Formats: sequence, structure tokens, C-alpha cells
Amino acid sequence: MIRRLIYVKYVLTPFLLSPLFILFSILFQQAAIASPHSAPPLLQKARVCTKQLYESPAKKKYRHNWERCIRRYEKVYKSFPNTDEAARALFGAGELWAYLYRYSSRDSDIDRAISLYRELVKKYKDHNLADDAQYRLGEIFYRDKKDPMQAYVEFLKVEVKFPSGDARLKASKKMEELERVLGKKRIARETGRKAAAKKKKLVLVENIRHWSTPTYTRVVVDLEDQVTYKEHLLKKDPSLKKPRRLFVDLRNARIGKDIESSIPIKDGLLRRARAAQYNTKTVRVVLDIDDMESYKIFHLYDPFRIVVDVQGEDRQLRPERKGVAPGTPERHERPKDSQKGISLAKQLGLGVKRIIIDAGHGGKDPGAIGSNGVREKDVMLKLARLVADKVRGDLRCEVVLTRKSDVFLPLEDRTAIANMKKGDLFISLHTNAHRDRRISGVETYILNIALDEDAMNLAARENATSTKNIGDLQMILNDLMLNTKINESARLAEFVQKGLVRELRTRYKGVQNRGVRQAPFYVLIGAEMPAILVEVGYITNRIENKRLCTEAYLKRTASGIVKGIDSYIKDMGLAYKGG
Ligand SMILES: [Zn+2]
Repeated sequence: MIRRLIYVKYVLTPFLLSPLFILFSILFQQAAIASPHSAPPLLQKARVCTKQLYESPAKKKYRHNWERCIRRYEKVYKSFPNTDEAARALFGAGELWAYLYRYSSRDSDIDRAISLYRELVKKYKDHNLADDAQYRLGEIFYRDKKDPMQAYVEFLKVEVKFPSGDARLKASKKMEELERVLGKKRIARETGRKAAAKKKKLVLVENIRHWSTPTYTRVVVDLEDQVTYKEHLLKKDPSLKKPRRLFVDLRNARIGKDIESSIPIKDGLLRRARAAQYNTKTVRVVLDIDDMESYKIFHLYDPFRIVVDVQGEDRQLRPERKGVAPGTPERHERPKDSQKGISLAKQLGLGVKRIIIDAGHGGKDPGAIGSNGVREKDVMLKLARLVADKVRGDLRCEVVLTRKSDVFLPLEDRTAIANMKKGDLFISLHTNAHRDRRISGVETYILNIALDEDAMNLAARENATSTKNIGDLQMILNDLMLNTKINESARLAEFVQKGLVRELRTRYKGVQNRGVRQAPFYVLIGAEMPAILVEVGYITNRIENKRLCTEAYLKRTASGIVKGIDSYIKDMGLAYKGG
């Protein structure tokens, strides 16, 4: 062993003294001298600065020492934005801000870290530090911001955006941990609420609404406040001639006097709905169901309501391609023989013959309002009518409008109508709004978790609830999306977005294509057909607001949407040819 070490020493020494080594050192130094302001040496300087800072407790006490190193990183990513070093510098600076926050406790410090990590994820999404930056965002929301719900979303983004990144495994571990934390929190919150309920009064069950066909049922229980609930499924009991029953127990609730104890429903999947005070603090809602295939139960906020969706066994088998991650629009393979496509479509009872057009908002809900007082609900009703005319005229399809006048219609009713009417496509029409009035453009959304703050805020606004409640919804969305047509919706969204932007650009300047996006919209949950939500412009943007007030722009918009639908249908080769 010793002999070997000596040997190494003797071998190395001649190399160190060799002309070759000297040549190497000169070349290296010259390279450094030749471009002292290239990205690598600058990044190196920033790193040395950081190392010295971390090693010195004395230096760490003074803010200016931190800021000096941060500035060095800043120089790299600002001067050389298109280099590998820029991404590394962003990461380094983000790390410094986050670390500094532990000393300073200044919110602005942690916010700087967040914005740098976000910038890295956005601008350098293919860099091998992008997934690590996304992971760090999760950690910041978890440890520093103490916002486990947002942390969960950030970790989820690691999985969604970087499925093959090395941060994925640790992100999913964090999500598991957070699920436990959030579960406990929920229990704590519920017990808190329980205690409050004990002191106060029981929550009133105000109404039970239902939609039912032989294949589809939606039941909505309206409550005056939040309650906890639990569902139970009872098997069919042939000896008692009882159908399968699904019952939901609502805790700390009392039943309203106006509610009928038994609601008979004929010709539906649901035979009967019953509601009764089960004991002093529990209301039991029982659904007698024939031939149930599956069900989903979830709640919506503001006002609090519980929704039960039941699918029947004899639903038409509508194939949805599998094996594609949610949210990744899939390339559609055109059938080689389009005639074959049509006949197959007919065999399966497919094809687009009925389109549901949903004009956003209405009645007491004006939607977004422009600075000139223009209301989203009015503009969208006009647009919905124009789209309907064009669909009938150009596509020869039937149209169902969810609302034909200025009336209020809850979001879950709109989806129920679409399912009841067996629409083949569902299109919800909206205008966007933003605090920053400069922002403009067209976006098309599909149902999925929101991946950025803007999408989160939009979903909160369109759902008329808080972003906190959206966070809650994001956690259960995966379950709610089972059996929904994610891929077909994404394809429809791509076509409509493209058709809309192309058509608007033939007449208008500066139309921003903001692309196909995703967010958890209440109105899209449970739709049994491809379903999208189109944001046809920003009512808060001066130019788009002006345009939205003209018939010409709305006509152009309607034409673009219908052209998009037409391309979608043609691409599928499933155009309905009558009979
Ligand atoms: Zn809207």
C-alpha cells in the first residue's frame, strides 16, 4: 500500500514539472484572461463568493454580503441569458435568497427566491436544474410559507412537468407526507367546525336537486354551510326486492321542512331519492339506483353543495385512448381510410350531432366586468347565440344552449344539462380578466390541475370561490377525472384555439395566442363528452374590451370557434352524415 502511494507520488511529480503541464496551465490562464467577462468565470466568482459567505458566520450576519453574491449571480443570468450558466446562476441566486430568509425573516426575500425559481422553471424548462427548482418551490411553500396546500401543488408540478426528472421520486414522497398532513389538518378543521356547530346550530339541508336519465344521474344537495359527509354503498337485496342503494350521511345537519322526504323519479337511473333526519345530528340522503356502473361524489363551494354523479351500466361504450398522461395533448392518428372511420363511428353511435353551447355566468352573476361597465354575461350570451347559428348553419349539427336569457344557472346544472341532453361536445364561453390591463389574448382550457398562478386565479374567479378552495379541489381532481374524455378534450381545445386565433388574425392586429391551458373548472367536472372552456379575450384590456363590444368581433369569434370544431370533426373522420 505504501509502495503504491510512493509510486503515485513519483509518477505525479514529473507530470507536474513537465512542459506539458506548464503548457496546460498557460492555456487555461490565457483562456481566462482572454474573456474575463464570459459566463463561466463570472459564475465561478459568484460561487466562490457564496462559499466564502457560507463558511463565515461573521459574514452571514450582514445583509450586504449576501446581496453581493446575489449580484454576482445576477450578472451571469442577465448578461448571458442564453447559456447553461444562466440557469445555474438563477438557481444559485434563488438558493441565496431562500437561505437569507432564514436569517432575515423578510417576506420579500423568500418571494425573490420564489420568482427566481419560477423563472428558471419557465425559461429553462429543459435544463437539468429545472425540476430541482420546481422541487425547491414545493419546499419553500411547505417549510417557509407554511402553506401545505400550495406546497402539494408545487410538488405535483414536479411530477406533471418533469416526469423523467430525478426530483420526481422525492417530490412524490413529499406529496405522500403532505397528504397525511393535510388529512390531519382537515380533521382538525372539521373537529373545530364540529365544536362550533355544537355551540351554534345544525347546518340546514336546504334543497335536493336532481337530473336523471336511464344512463346518467346527478344529485346535488344544497347546504347553508360546510358539513362533513361520508358515503356508503349497499348491495342489492333481492330478498327484500330492494335496488342498490347509495347513501350519504351529512353530519351536524338538519333537514329543511320544505324538502320532500321521498322524491320519486320515473324513467331514470335513479328510482328515488330520499332524505331524512337519521338521528339528532345526521341527515341521511338515500339514492335508490338501478344498474349503477360507477359513481363520484364531491363538493363545491360558495355556496357549499355536495354533488353525486352516477353512471349507469348501459352507457354506450365510447372508447377513449389510454396511456397518455393527463394534460398532454395527444397527436391524433387520422384513420387511413376515412370511410372506415365513419362507418366505425356509426357502429359505435359516435359522431358529432349535438353540441352544447354554454354562455358563461348570467342573472345575479355578471362574470368579469370591464372598466366601461361591460359585463361578461351579456357579451357571452350574444356570442353563444352567434355560435349556435353558425353551428346549425355550417355544421348542420343540433345545438343546445344552457341558457337563452339573462338567468342565473349554477355551474353544476350546466354540466348536468349537457349530460342529460347527451351532447357530443360541450363548449363553455367566457371572457378573461387580469389586474394587469396590458394582458390580452385568447386561451382555451381543459379540465385538469392548474399549473400556474394565472390559471389558479382564473379557476377561482370562474368558479366564484377562493384559490384556497381551488387548492382543495386540485387534490381530488384526479379521482374526478376518471372516465372523462381528457385526450379528446385536449384535441378539441387545440383545434378550437387554432381556428379562433387564425380567424381573428384575418381581421384584427396583435391577437395573442395564449395557447391551450388547463385548470379545475367546476363547469367541466363530470362532463361525459369532450369539454372545453374558451376565454375569447380580456375584458380588462382596453383594445379587446372595445372589440368585444362590437358585433363584428363576436361574429369573427363565433366563426373561428366553429371552424375549429369543424376541423376537429373532420380530423376525427367522424362527421355525422345524417341517418
Ligand atoms: Zn367567466
